[in-house]
Amino acid sequence: MKSFNYHSAKDSKEASKLSSSNSAFLAGGMTTIPSMKLGLASYKDIIDIKGIKKLSGIKVSGKSVIIGATTKHVEVANSKDVKKAIPSLALLAEGIGDPQVRNRGTIGGSIANNDPSADYPSACVALDAIVHTNERKIEASKFFKGMFETALKKGELIEAIEFKVPEKSSYQKHPNPASRYAVVGVYVAKHKNGTIVAVTGAKPCVYNDKDLSKALDSNFSANSISGMKLKSSDMNSDIHASAEYRANLVVIQAKKAVEAC
Ligand SMILES: Cc1cc2nc3c(=O)[nH]c(=O)nc-3n(C[C@H](O)[C@H](O)[C@H](O)COP(=O)(O)OP(=O)(O)OC[C@H]3O[C@@H](n4cnc5c(N)ncnc54)[C@H](O)[C@@H]3O)c2cc1C
Repeated sequence: MKSFNYHSAKDSKEASKLSSSNSAFLAGGMTTIPSMKLGLASYKDIIDIKGIKKLSGIKVSGKSVIIGATTKHVEVANSKDVKKAIPSLALLAEGIGDPQVRNRGTIGGSIANNDPSADYPSACVALDAIVHTNERKIEASKFFKGMFETALKKGELIEAIEFKVPEKSSYQKHPNPASRYAVVGVYVAKHKNGTIVAVTGAKPCVYNDKDLSKALDSNFSANSISGMKLKSSDMNSDIHASAEYRANLVVIQAKKAVEAC
């Protein structure tokens, strides 16, 4: 690992000011540290944001669940308030990685990294979330731009994620047996004004599957999407699953999610 300057920021303003084109924020470090150790990434400045109290914690109101950026996966998984308001979100957090990853990894780090197989991006899209940064509020539908790419500007810090409480919802993933990342994960959320089916793992970036969402909007039942054939030409294909396998798996996981709602 190459040497770097370590900074511990006291607030969002300082964290943002310290950042440069060659820096990274340190939240859980579950992606940043291994990438640096393996020589895949190197930074001049590492800005630790774990000490910023304002960035951690969970607030639940009737209509929304707001989770601070440095809140760890284990805290979301164990939160009685999240379990009551959006049980599927707590279950999603409980299914991330292993106990070590859940005890260090954070929700802000996960969505900033935007791994194509990460779980939280699907929750953000399905639960029509708003990403609060130190500069603005960004709708989830406009936040995830492409593989490992988001709408965040250099130095922009995620402070919290605000999820809309749906009428019902479920997240179903087919995990990679080693890492637990999603080979395919489907988050179905039925809101008062429509259904959103968010898919992770299948394409380079999380997406709202409009065909599945439309079918469930007219009839919210597993039967209504049974046998649907999705286009596989733009789906990921790797040693874990072919594009055709993933296209089929999206429908299977979506059916499971509807049945579990
Ligand atoms: C073995 C292993 C298994 C895993 N399995 C899964 C899995 O099954 N599902 C899954 O979804 N994930 C999985 N992960 C990823 C993990 O859950 C972490 O969420 C993820 O690594 C990033 O979160 P972090 O807090 O560790 O971020 P860090 O590593 O600290 O940071 C990652 C990136 O995000 C940026 N960043 C961090 N916080 C902010 C912020 N508040 N604002 C702006 N930018 C920020 C940093 O600059 C950096 O570029 C796994 C990781 C490992 C190592």
